[in-house]
Amino acid sequence: MKIAIAGAGAMGGRFGTMLATTDNQVMFIDSWADHVQAINDRGLQVHVGNAVTPHWIPAALPQDVHGSFDLIILFTKAMGIAPMLESLRSIITRTTHVMVLANGIGNIEQVEKFVPGRQIIAGVTVWSSELDGPGEITLTGAGNVTLQPLAGQSDDFFQAVLTAFHQAGLNPIASDDVLAAIWKKAALNCVLNTYTALLDCNVGEFGRLPNHETLIDGVLNEFAVVAHHEHIDFDLDAARQLILAQFAPGGNSAHYPSMYQDLAKGRPTEIDFLNGFIAAKGAASNIPTPVNRLLTQLIHGKEVLSKQS
Ligand code: NAD
Repeated sequence: MKIAIAGAGAMGGRFGTMLATTDNQVMFIDSWADHVQAINDRGLQVHVGNAVTPHWIPAALPQDVHGSFDLIILFTKAMGIAPMLESLRSIITRTTHVMVLANGIGNIEQVEKFVPGRQIIAGVTVWSSELDGPGEITLTGAGNVTLQPLAGQSDDFFQAVLTAFHQAGLNPIASDDVLAAIWKKAALNCVLNTYTALLDCNVGEFGRLPNHETLIDGVLNEFAVVAHHEHIDFDLDAARQLILAQFAPGGNSAHYPSMYQDLAKGRPTEIDFLNGFIAAKGAASNIPTPVNRLLTQLIHGKEVLSKQS
């Protein structure tokens, strides 16, 4: 299978290097010229603990990619999906499948503007990774990836993808309700990413705030009403328990989520695909979402301030 990873940052780099250990052909596509150059000059430097290994996988800017691929795995941030697909229009054919794994809600609808549903595989992952700079990533922890082809589970191509992901050690889980998994993870991100970014703290510090449960419920209660309105199978209590479990010592408590890290680097966040999505859906359906709306505005304010500093 010819696989392109479109968006070869922390997660794209991780999935690409793991898939390249199988007998599939992998290529990186990325819009960050310094990153592409570094990967081609020195290999993608992958840090695990104290060890660093170069992975020699070819990388190219979107405008320099020719030929076709069986599978394009999109791993841009949510707001990078449409620009990336726009720049890849000429290489997406009737046999190209596109997998979308970015965090946030509404990503499938973005991809459907460029690719028919029968060629889309939607997913969500709890693997993690960090981008240290051009050509350098650090792998953290272990994970899995939940996947569902919009064409249906029996699709032959999807079975080949599952085999490739198994061989790569990515721990794929075939789901018949990936939207429920996507919304559950988004609920966690709407709480932990947003509050830790606003409060300049890590997950454990947020969990030790005396009013953390009130803050969590403010987001989740609105989230649940919007999810219900969108016919998503969203279990409010399970999402709440998942969030509270992150505060356990030794768990994720020392983690600074990606929104915090994006702001620290002066980069835009995925807020419009998290709390902003809930606020926008709420507004469109006359569902009050004042907490999510305010949090979205505050993060946009922080984006402006962090860019200036
Ligand atoms: P990333 O920021 O590492 O990379 C995304 C894109 O941004 C890449 O194309 C990268 O080259 C580009 N980029 C990064 N820094 C840049 C810079 N300084 N200048 C120009 N371009 C730059 O993003 P990621 O962490 O791989 O996340 C991809 C998606 O996966 C997101 O939706 C994220 O929420 C989700 N996700 C991330 C993790 C994680 O642990 N990193 C875990 C699960 C899901």
